[in-house]
Amino acid sequence: AESSKPQGLDASKLTVEKTTKPKPLKKAEELVFGQAFTDHMLSVEWNKDAGWLAPKITPYQNLSLDPASSVFHYAFECFEGMKAYKDKAGQIRLFRPDRNMERLNKSAARIALPNFDPSTLLDLIAELVKLDSRFIPEQRGYSLYLRPTMIGTQKTLGVGAPGSALLYVIASPVGPYYPTGFKAISLEATDYAVRAWPGGVGDKKLGANYAPCIVPQREAMSRGFQQNLWLFGDEQFVTEVGTMNMFVALRNKDTGANELLTAPLDGTILEGVTRDSVLALAREKLVPEGWNIVERKYTMQELSDAADEGRFLEAFGSGTAAIVSPVRSISWKGKLVDCGLKPHEESGELATKMKGWIEARQYGDEEHEWSYTC
Ligand code: PMP
Repeated sequence: AESSKPQGLDASKLTVEKTTKPKPLKKAEELVFGQAFTDHMLSVEWNKDAGWLAPKITPYQNLSLDPASSVFHYAFECFEGMKAYKDKAGQIRLFRPDRNMERLNKSAARIALPNFDPSTLLDLIAELVKLDSRFIPEQRGYSLYLRPTMIGTQKTLGVGAPGSALLYVIASPVGPYYPTGFKAISLEATDYAVRAWPGGVGDKKLGANYAPCIVPQREAMSRGFQQNLWLFGDEQFVTEVGTMNMFVALRNKDTGANELLTAPLDGTILEGVTRDSVLALAREKLVPEGWNIVERKYTMQELSDAADEGRFLEAFGSGTAAIVSPVRSISWKGKLVDCGLKPHEESGELATKMKGWIEARQYGDEEHEWSYTC
């Protein structure tokens, strides 16, 4: 029936146009993160009168946009990062994709872009992933990185809520972050620039949050550090590392108990899916061993004291790309804070165990509700 009400996202309206020029598959060892893409993409247009139009899977192709489109001027853009895996039986699995759908909706809402029904977008993504499944490498550590993206497309230089938008999903086969196994990274604490602040948008996955982070990252690299560590405030609270959440394991000064510590979700850090998974697994598997799992603000000074007093056990970043990334040291105020690894070690015990636990659920070795079969 005709209706003037804007339509919701509708997977039953999906049309599929298959490529006539299938791309050759790259050798697994040749995969560079985010450089090669699959044969197809998913796109759905939206406008404020009609709502979501019919979703389309088409050959991967350029977009054609008016130069006045709002994405180019006022950064109406948000995105997600998630992965599809092939299990031993060749079945395709996504890892906690409901979390990515929810986060994309939150990001979109914050910049006046439309929301969508999360399980419908998930169904559509599953169609794309199934169609391009030959691009999902089967080896452990390999996966298909998915990049859902939403942009404002209205052609106007007027600053306002976009009256039209495009939601699209592209996919890129990726290899293990550390092809030769874990490699511990060294960080430089950034004290001259801030990534996010209370009441800001640091907890949203907006493109506009990323461009300003490259200069501090490049500065850290120029001094021999792989990533920069974002601090906040006069107290020098530790927030995130590059594009990962940060975890530290310390022995508590007063009680002597082991603690796994991470910053709380106070709006200044991204609500990482991997962070949430690390916390859940830690509560499940480490608490029975006597660990305390703590979400609270902590400072660089605390870390420096723990290192000086021999209480710094280990540190790692967490994110979709690397799962966990062990940290060897943090440069701060001209000193190097040692995060507890022995010189010959590339990972602490917790980081190694955590990676194994998470991968078991990503690749479906362990049946778990976090694993979504397509
Ligand atoms: N923080 C930032 C700033 C990020 O870009 C990411 C990557 N999405 C993360 C943390 C980790 O989030 P996730 O575990 O969901 O990949």
